[in-house]
Amino acid sequence: MNARLTSRTLLTAITFLGMVLSPVEWAQSGPVSPVAPRRELVESVVREAYEKFRNDTGGKNADYIPYLAQVDSKLFGIAIVTTDNQVLTMGDVKYSFSIQSISKVFTLALAMKELGADKVFEKVGSEPTGRSFNSPIAVVDMPTHTGNPFVNAGAISTTSLISGKDEAEKWNKVLDFYSKAAGEKLSLIDEVYKSEAATNTGNKALSYLLAKYDRIYADPFESVDIYTKQCSVGVNATQLARMGATLANNGKNPATGEQVIKPEDIPHILSTMTMAGLYDGSGGWAWHVGLPAKSGVGGGILAIAPGKGAIAVFAPPLDEAGNSVKAQKVIEYVTQRLNYNLFSPRSVGFK
Ligand code: GLN
Repeated sequence: MNARLTSRTLLTAITFLGMVLSPVEWAQSGPVSPVAPRRELVESVVREAYEKFRNDTGGKNADYIPYLAQVDSKLFGIAIVTTDNQVLTMGDVKYSFSIQSISKVFTLALAMKELGADKVFEKVGSEPTGRSFNSPIAVVDMPTHTGNPFVNAGAISTTSLISGKDEAEKWNKVLDFYSKAAGEKLSLIDEVYKSEAATNTGNKALSYLLAKYDRIYADPFESVDIYTKQCSVGVNATQLARMGATLANNGKNPATGEQVIKPEDIPHILSTMTMAGLYDGSGGWAWHVGLPAKSGVGGGILAIAPGKGAIAVFAPPLDEAGNSVKAQKVIEYVTQRLNYNLFSPRSVGFK
């Protein structure tokens, strides 16, 4: 009798625990992701990728922002941060480079946190443009006029949604949000900002074109200025990878434990990255790599393996679309070797 009671009690306890600690719950609240990669394997793959591509000379630094033209084009760093906050690095991962367009991902997240995803979708939309990132033709031709939050027009429109009593308050809010995603205080690289602010006539033109279609929601030049500052935020590869790991970890920074991005916004962000993260190179990227990613003309690319972690690669020379040549090669290699392509049956264990 006693034995039967005990085993029934045990069974109830196990059933209860099973409900409380279902794999999904556990992944969200536990310290270690059940799908996090094996460290030794990731380490050897990153080392292979670094050696394989370090002498690649393809591409050319961006030069339409004068500062970027004089950055050492040999700089090369790889960082991975997993959802259980393991950090793996290789090469120039201490060098602080401008985040550029990768910032657009986090301003989108902040706008959704403030306004809700539906409002942002209504006001900015999310459609591929098939054109260069700074195209005014896309603004004129597309029914949404903004394209999506990751081309310049859509990004300036998204930045204009951030509320604040004046420009300084809005900008501080943006910078603070990025810092929370990185888990440490980030700051502006003043020289990059000055260099871009002195030459950003195209973006100013885009902001007025957006005004023509009622797709900018604050003063156009103020919005471009905040946008230019957000692009000039300095990050090193490790900081950038941790910002990505926050996305991979359902919006919770794996180092600080802070819920920075709303979990319900994560699918909108990752799907937009998959569709438009590498501009007019996004289709080829999806075909070959199959991970949500975002590039910046500073030479960074950040790719997300949901639930697992993020990889950030920094190497300044870019291809025609404005995407780092080496970073694309490294991420494609690592993704294939680790079976991370989201669209591959192997990513969920099929042979
Ligand atoms: N600040 C850059 C610009 O507005 C960002 C572009 C990019 O990284 N693709 O032109």
